[in-house]
Amino acid sequence: MDRKSKSVWIQSVLEQYFPDPKIPLEHSDFYTLLIAVLLSAQCTDERVNKVTPKLFARGPTPELMIQLSVQEIEEIIRSCGLSQTKAKAIFSLSKILVEQYQGAVPRSFAALESLPGVGHKTASVVMSQAFHEAAFPVDTHIYRCAKRWGLSKGKNVKQTEEDLKKLFPQELWNRLHLQMIYFARRFCPARGHIVEQCPICQFLKEQKNGPKTVL
Ligand code: SF4
Repeated sequence: MDRKSKSVWIQSVLEQYFPDPKIPLEHSDFYTLLIAVLLSAQCTDERVNKVTPKLFARGPTPELMIQLSVQEIEEIIRSCGLSQTKAKAIFSLSKILVEQYQGAVPRSFAALESLPGVGHKTASVVMSQAFHEAAFPVDTHIYRCAKRWGLSKGKNVKQTEEDLKKLFPQELWNRLHLQMIYFARRFCPARGHIVEQCPICQFLKEQKNGPKTVL
């Protein structure tokens, strides 16, 4: 099976298992989405969802967030890890939003990526989930699956993102990003995957060109 046919088949499996993928981070608008995604770096979504109700009760908008001190923000988000860095970033980016964007979240990769604490992945999640712009944020789960399924030989998330964008139609990127994350969490952990219970590699195993390295 060539890479293109494989990608079409994998997409159909993901669609079957996760027909309505929703972003797992709780938020109520573009700003709270941006902050939740920033907090999710090296932290689980469950943990972020435990922390954000308290944070957003005190700072639901950039204007109100900068009424808090960096120390107060840090105290609320401490359990998310990297709390000092994240608190500084939340405060500084909120200040920039107020001073330069009238408190709104900018709809541009360049503007988002220029904000403190916002890298390409965070910007991509916001662009795709808030503004419905085509983006394919690649995290560690997607990187792992793309490699194991033989969809990309990328040596880093940037190369994997480029490969996946070439392989899948643009209109599918936003949902595929979520579907792959959900799949990876359910079936394809970094260690201890069970091939017999997995709908993708189980099938690929029977194909001549299956990803032999993982089976
Ligand atoms: S068999 Fe393993 S590597 Fe392949 S998709 Fe399933 S969990 Fe991932």
